[in-house]
Amino acid sequence: MIFKSTLLIEKATFREIVLAGNYFIKKLNKGQTIRILDLEGNQAADTLFFSAEDPSERYSAVDTIRNQKNVYLTKGTVLMSNGCKPLLEIVADTCGRHDTLGGACATESNTVRYGLEKKSMHACRNSWMLAVSENKEFGLTKRDITHNINFFMNVPITKEGKLTFEDGISDAGKYVELEAKMDVIVLISNCPQLNNPCNDFNPTPIEVIIW
Ligand SMILES: [Zn+2]
Repeated sequence: MIFKSTLLIEKATFREIVLAGNYFIKKLNKGQTIRILDLEGNQAADTLFFSAEDPSERYSAVDTIRNQKNVYLTKGTVLMSNGCKPLLEIVADTCGRHDTLGGACATESNTVRYGLEKKSMHACRNSWMLAVSENKEFGLTKRDITHNINFFMNVPITKEGKLTFEDGISDAGKYVELEAKMDVIVLISNCPQLNNPCNDFNPTPIEVIIW
């Protein structure tokens, strides 16, 4: 569902541009709102959320889908934890649909999907692992890297129940906004994938804005 934000950009307390292939990690306090902005369009932002108090409680695609009885995420979606608690709620969305089934790219899946010579190509899983190892104060480890949300990514389900990676429906300037329902850690990999159309074969920057 398309629903515009009422927040004023000049009132934001934090802004950072994240280049494709880079990660973003930050604590978000309960009540704060985070906007992920697709600056040039057709980008995928592979995102994980954790309870800041106990990172073993984290975003659960399964519980979120069951709770809202819908596989696509948009305005009104409450992101649920594996402890069945609300982590964040999508409060504005000008893209209209986000994926939580397709998973993140990894060097292993690149190899299986696209060819052995793709093994050394940069992938989201590596960005998350780098984030975890370079930011030990968050208390995250390799085992906390689980299923995720792909903001702006278009992964429709076919009539036969299969998933397909399709050309994006996002565009330059589209955004999604989430309000934290508890203190959370946000971990984003701005996807560097060059082998499928999740980012139009042309990875581009995103901006993260917090109120
Ligand atoms: Zn990726």
